[in-house]
Amino acid sequence: MTEDNLNISYITNILGENDAEGIHSVTPPIYQTSNYYFRNVEQFREAISSEKDNWIYSRGNNPTTNLLCRKLAALEGAEEALVFGSGMAAISSAILSNIKTGDHIVCVQNPYSWTNTLLNTNILPRFGVQVTMVDGCSTQAIIDAVRPETTVIYLESPNSWTFELQDLKAVSEFARAKGIITILDNSLSTPLFQQPIKHGIDLVVHTASKYLGGHSDVVAGACCGSKEMIGKIFANEFLTLGGILSPFNAWLILRGLRTLPVRMEHVSRVTHEIISFLQTQPKVKKIFYPMLRNNEQFSLAQSQMSKGSGLFTIDLDSTTDAIEDFCNSLTYWRMAVSWGGFESLIIPSCTFVRPGLYSSFPPTLIRFSTGLEDAETLILDIEKNIHRL
Ligand SMILES: *Cc1c(COP(=O)(O)O)cnc(C)c1O
Repeated sequence: MTEDNLNISYITNILGENDAEGIHSVTPPIYQTSNYYFRNVEQFREAISSEKDNWIYSRGNNPTTNLLCRKLAALEGAEEALVFGSGMAAISSAILSNIKTGDHIVCVQNPYSWTNTLLNTNILPRFGVQVTMVDGCSTQAIIDAVRPETTVIYLESPNSWTFELQDLKAVSEFARAKGIITILDNSLSTPLFQQPIKHGIDLVVHTASKYLGGHSDVVAGACCGSKEMIGKIFANEFLTLGGILSPFNAWLILRGLRTLPVRMEHVSRVTHEIISFLQTQPKVKKIFYPMLRNNEQFSLAQSQMSKGSGLFTIDLDSTTDAIEDFCNSLTYWRMAVSWGGFESLIIPSCTFVRPGLYSSFPPTLIRFSTGLEDAETLILDIEKNIHRL
């Protein structure tokens, strides 16, 4: 059953939260259990025949994590979803589920750094899976990279540093005709600002550690898609590799989802205000953000996303020393990896010393993640320190 016609508040506040015990608690219980018992051998035997449809062990089903799966599937307009112990567990499982030795993957350039590591450095190369990285702004470049043995096209639209987009309809139409699976990392937009399945994408993956959780207190991931594809992942990678989410962490994401609509509205609006300020600053050479009128992909962004979220990057006309001084001086914009939490964060690209980590980027970039502070506070913090650049 697809629950994509439900409204967002219904999904985040009510869907699936039926009160079986008659206690009328407004939040769901946390089923902190690893195990479920049976009353007789016959029931036990019958349950064992299908892990997916029964309460057997919490590496498979758990009522708290399943409730989160149901809400995420509804938000993405997908038939089903699975949640994982991290975004990378979700991404790895979605990819592994659709490849074998000798297969080929086409992936967009500059995906999330650990996705790049999975594909190109320490896992898939060991199993004889080939990967071609392409400029996904060009659908033709994706088409040209496809070989007879291509089984997966991996997309990130927009990506989380320079925000390149892919034409989701065009790419998925091409892939479908060839029997190639499309997987898209939708972490940046969240299902509130972009629903890739509506554009024909097969599997949508997420880190729930960022906006979905929203409070920088849990690492989690999700994968959404058809009943058939999610069933295949459940039966294989999910149960066997075992990268599950704990019931308590699932509950934290359920709590995070309740405020997702207000948080996303806030970061989107405040980010536009911050960008308007930065556009007046002579040291800012370029601003990377999908929803900017002068962005080459602006019309594509408008056609497949409803809004821009809270991440943007600036390229500075400045020295590395001055950029370090600027970053060290900010109060509200703290320096850290990750993004999408309540706190505003920056990463200067001059910290990228791990080999292969976005190696094509100049050292003059700073990526910003707008948190839940008000626009005035965040702009003032930048304004007070921008003379250092
Ligand atoms: C952080 C991130 C991931 C990985 O998620 P984890 O929960 O940290 O494993 C995947 N994709 C994007 C775009 C990310 O920013």
